[in-house]
Amino acid sequence: MENIKKHIKDVSDFPKKGIVFKDITPLLMNPKALQQVIDMWVSRFKKSKINKVVAMESRGFLFGVPVALKLKAGFVPVRKPGKLPRKTISQSFSLEYGKDKLEIHRDAIKKGDRVLIIDDVLATGGTAEAVTKLVEKLGGTVKSLAFLMELSFLNGRSKLKRYNISSHIKY
Ligand code: AMP
Repeated sequence: MENIKKHIKDVSDFPKKGIVFKDITPLLMNPKALQQVIDMWVSRFKKSKINKVVAMESRGFLFGVPVALKLKAGFVPVRKPGKLPRKTISQSFSLEYGKDKLEIHRDAIKKGDRVLIIDDVLATGGTAEAVTKLVEKLGGTVKSLAFLMELSFLNGRSKLKRYNISSHIKY
């Protein structure tokens, strides 16, 4: 995974002081490295009978769509409030300071759907937990959560104990 790691740049104090932001834009500019990341997910999940890939705004979309296509699954975006045009359900969750909310189209997940959730970074796990709740409210089954990076020191897994979780790179 070292060769993938070198395409992720640490940016200190972004978006605010004390945060080390993991910038994936160098990875996106390198087709070989990006292909390797997508292929790893595809080979990991190709036998899991996933029929929906769900990803959260906005970096999750960049990985979720190519993986969904390769798995021959549908892609479902989860977005910040007011962005999805049709009927939605929403889920609030806590941030370090304050609260946030995410939405999904009501008809995006059907009962019995086998769902893979993808995002770039697992940090405190609050975002991913909210997405699992949205999927389950609509009757879907969360088969797995897959992250490119995991900030282990923030212990996001503790919020997601019930699930099968994987990450390519651990910090
Ligand atoms: P959390 O809910 O704390 O697990 O945060 C996860 C969300 O915030 C993901 O959608 C990430 O894209 C983003 N995120 C959190 N921490 C970082 C970081 N250090 N660098 C880049 N993105 C981050």
